[in-house]
Amino acid sequence: MWDGVYDVIVVGAGHAGCEAALAAARMGCKTALFVINSDRIAEMSCNPSIGGVAKGTVVREIDALGGEMAKNIDATGIQFRILNKKKGPAVRAPRAQADKYAYRERMKRVIEETDNLDVVQQIVDDIIVEDGKVKGVVTHLGAKYGAKAVVVTAGTFLRGKIIIGFEEFEGGRMWEPAANKLSSFYERHGFRVARLKTGTPVRIDGRTIDFSKMERQDGDEPPPFFSYWTEPKEIEQIPCWLTYTTPETHRIIRENLHRSPMYGECKLITGVGVRYCPSIEDKIVKFPDKERHHVFVEPEGRNTVEFYPNGTSTSLPYDVQEQIIHSIPGLENAKIIKPAYGIEYDFVDPTHLYPTLETKLIRGLFNAGQINGTTGYEEAAGQGIVAGINAALYAMGKDERFVLGRDEAYIGVMIDDLVNRGVREPYRLFTSRAEYRLLLRYDNADYRLAKYGYKFGLLTREQYERVKRKYETVKVFIEKLKEIKIKPSESPVEIKETKSAYELLKRPEVKLEDILKVVPVKVSVDDEKLLREILEEVEIEVKYEGYIKRQLEEVRRFRKLENVKIPKDFDYDVVPISIEEKQKLKEMKPLTLGQAARLEGIRPASIPILSIYIEKWK
Ligand code: FAD
Repeated sequence: MWDGVYDVIVVGAGHAGCEAALAAARMGCKTALFVINSDRIAEMSCNPSIGGVAKGTVVREIDALGGEMAKNIDATGIQFRILNKKKGPAVRAPRAQADKYAYRERMKRVIEETDNLDVVQQIVDDIIVEDGKVKGVVTHLGAKYGAKAVVVTAGTFLRGKIIIGFEEFEGGRMWEPAANKLSSFYERHGFRVARLKTGTPVRIDGRTIDFSKMERQDGDEPPPFFSYWTEPKEIEQIPCWLTYTTPETHRIIRENLHRSPMYGECKLITGVGVRYCPSIEDKIVKFPDKERHHVFVEPEGRNTVEFYPNGTSTSLPYDVQEQIIHSIPGLENAKIIKPAYGIEYDFVDPTHLYPTLETKLIRGLFNAGQINGTTGYEEAAGQGIVAGINAALYAMGKDERFVLGRDEAYIGVMIDDLVNRGVREPYRLFTSRAEYRLLLRYDNADYRLAKYGYKFGLLTREQYERVKRKYETVKVFIEKLKEIKIKPSESPVEIKETKSAYELLKRPEVKLEDILKVVPVKVSVDDEKLLREILEEVEIEVKYEGYIKRQLEEVRRFRKLENVKIPKDFDYDVVPISIEEKQKLKEMKPLTLGQAARLEGIRPASIPILSIYIEKWK
């Protein structure tokens, strides 16, 4: 007998779980969201911020698909900026400082107000499988819940171990119990489970910080909100502060390395850490010649005195943490409210997954977020919405699958990397991971993805119409710029003969606003926000047209392989390729020829051969 029956069960209400559960429920599936502590839904375990380079683009992608993260940070953020404004559009991205308490409260409210969605505060200990298919979950209270699909988003909680110096205790993150039983479910069913680690800095009492010794960093005005659907509004933005480590900080760390759970004689941490977001002791060991490191001092919210010294994450003992903090200008007298700590946890090898995030070993079971070896809220949320949509499609008995290509979204790049290459260290997104990054910009996520959001019922018709109208207007606008002639006497820059506004805009020193001052272009858009988006798009498309065209050409070649589907029953044994390649292909079960080509160990020369045999098979 079941204690409850659902279409979709989501295990975990972090950033992945919230997006997965909202997507499934909004698509009409009866959904349950299991969480260890329901007061900490959408908790920011570490940094109180959302976005950044590549990650900010992911948040816009989630928004274009009809997810919640962008709206949630817009409603609760305390500082908004566009990073890399002076650089090319491929690396520009929005970033916001969050009020972490308001952030989780609002997300909890959204979840509570969503139809078809129940929150269940119980720890899932086991997953019920029959005939290779998911049937439901069992909790630590012995309760059983039935489901057609289960999405696991357990974050850092699987056999989580918190470490401060040589002290260690069980925990999924500070003051929350670990989930100690679910890993053995995966091991029993043949999944590879391994350890990773991450860490977080102390939290400091702002009343004891001397900000006069730090550089102030303000947000942009007007605040550049994340969501395409957030109306412009004024908010009171709160500054962040920049200070640096000193030679004294480095001395303290070097002299105490023997007390580190990673570098000391008693190696408590064995998991691999985040290379690109290292602990302060990692930085001192790996970059011994660097004289100082940035420390960004960031507020944790509007109604708290807590500050987050970004860049000082550590798992050294508490007395060393105090010395480190007091050696930093402005923090000499700072009082620590919460200690820093390291955490080690289990993750499940993501090469066990299809690009839908469904596992290859059990039908109807999906993994998303940190459990797949990633790190970061945005990476987790991006996987969450994809897993949620696919779990809903599966639960509804549809044959359709939702897979994002590397040419369509950073989320697609990330999932493709995870499922084809696996992870050896916590996976984080960078622009350099994307081959077509000039196409995967933060400004055009709606162009790329709103069609899916609308198709799956996560965007309204009105929202989708806005996107279509935007890009139709961009086209018309560019055509008008081609027709408008600007004489040398009118030109904002020196020219010898009359040129079209379009030709002029291609010049790096000419901005669209300079041209519009001389020759206003009329468009029938009365929404100021939409108009600003259109102008941004026109400027990028005209200025970078050559590069964009080249990338589109590369995408056409990429798509040729990507569009060749490999039949489910295809027999690799008939193909004259090496035994190792056959084994790899049988294990990895690529869905397309393109995916097969990206697998480690598959030779480029084998792809045309495979292509011929797939064609014959059909
Ligand atoms: P989480 O946000 O961890 O959420 C997991 C959810 O699953 C929770 O709601 C939990 O209650 C629930 N849960 C787990 N197991 C069960 C179960 N069996 N039954 C029911 N519910 C369950 N990221 C960075 O980008 N940079 C950093 O510097 C960084 N440092 C970090 C430091 C620490 C100490 C921690 C804990 C995390 C850090 N992270 C960092 C990671 C970041 O918090 C995660 O990437 C992100 O939160 C992952 O989201 P998620 O949804 O996958 O999991």
